[in-house]
Amino acid sequence: MKILVMNCGSSSLKYQLIDMENESVLAKGLCERIGIDGSLLTHTPAGGEKYKVEAAMPSHKEAIELVMQALVDPSHGVIKSTDEISAIGHRVVHGGTYYNESVLVNEDVKKAIADCFDLAPLHNPANLMGIEACEAAMPGKPNVAVFDTAFGMSMPEKAYLYALPYEYYEKYKVRRYGFHGTSHNFVAGEVIRKGGLDPKSAKVVVCHLGNGASVSASIGGKCVDTSMGLTPLEGLIMGTRSGDIDPAIIQFICEHEKLTVEEMTDVLNKKSGVLGLSNGISSDFRDIDDAANGGNHLAKVALEAYTLRVAKYIGAYVAAMNGVDAIAFTAGVGENDKFMRKNICAYLGYLGVKIDDERNNVRGEERLISTDDSKVQVYLLPTNEELAIARDTLKLTK
Ligand code: ADP
Repeated sequence: MKILVMNCGSSSLKYQLIDMENESVLAKGLCERIGIDGSLLTHTPAGGEKYKVEAAMPSHKEAIELVMQALVDPSHGVIKSTDEISAIGHRVVHGGTYYNESVLVNEDVKKAIADCFDLAPLHNPANLMGIEACEAAMPGKPNVAVFDTAFGMSMPEKAYLYALPYEYYEKYKVRRYGFHGTSHNFVAGEVIRKGGLDPKSAKVVVCHLGNGASVSASIGGKCVDTSMGLTPLEGLIMGTRSGDIDPAIIQFICEHEKLTVEEMTDVLNKKSGVLGLSNGISSDFRDIDDAANGGNHLAKVALEAYTLRVAKYIGAYVAAMNGVDAIAFTAGVGENDKFMRKNICAYLGYLGVKIDDERNNVRGEERLISTDDSKVQVYLLPTNEELAIARDTLKLTK
């Protein structure tokens, strides 16, 4: 079976065609600038050259039609006809309180995705557009929605409720949802398998450290806590997002800088994080690393603050679970930055965590990076959200 995985943003569309016989990627690609001038499709068949098409894509519908054409093209395509695609799996950012697992799309599911527009105004409308465009381009094929928030739905009330007037939860479902759920779920599952841990009781902390970053705690593969909240702004320090701050700072800065709450939220999302801490050097950790190595004080502090925040979350989650069997690092920073992994783990000596420098000297490869006598197994485990989406899609459609 071949499954098409779709990840639609407001002006972009990423896709992968995966052969589920051996879980290999047959082709992947990206449509950029959908709905804007200069739309571009970049299509890469496995083992082949990148192929670019500049063509008008006024909406996701035209973009998906171009993807279909690229997939069946005689020279750079990978299938003879779109009939070979059995189903389409879609990343959907917010499933609200409706879904705790992936679902086959029907009219009720689409309505629920639309009901969550105000919870994820940048993502859910694009995700729904992608689903509807696939329904139009490939009528009759099953579509599956895989929600970023589904993993967090197993959290107990004590972890997901905010200490706010309860009526805000009742009226608006203001609660912790958590994001990157597909990644946390995938990585926690892989760690349990790799580490030979008990699938019912293993206590695992996953650090998804990308441009956006979050930590999760799970017991037996079920999320018990996670650092992102109602929105992906809470928790860790990120590339441009502040993560946790004193909420009173918002009014304080709004008054002094004459900002609206909306403008201040924009600052917290786009101008904060290591970008803000480093006084504007970059949101990219490679640039911050270079600046810190070159002696820039604020870049060094940004890295230290980032490391400290991750270590504090791990400590909190170990306390919440009363123990931990394994810790895993994933996503751009987690997979590529050995110093970050080492510096975070340096805070965890009290847990008996010991990192093997030789094993840790690796990028983007699945590996145990702790010593054999470490009390906690520590892994570098590359995330694969597309494969996780394809696996769920297969499960629901075969
Ligand atoms: P997202 O999916 O959230 O956009 P990724 O998981 O792709 O993010 O991570 C992107 C981030 O990974 C970049 O911002 C960059 O800071 C970081 N990164 C990538 N390679 C390295 C590296 N070699 N060293 C440190 N950080 C890196």
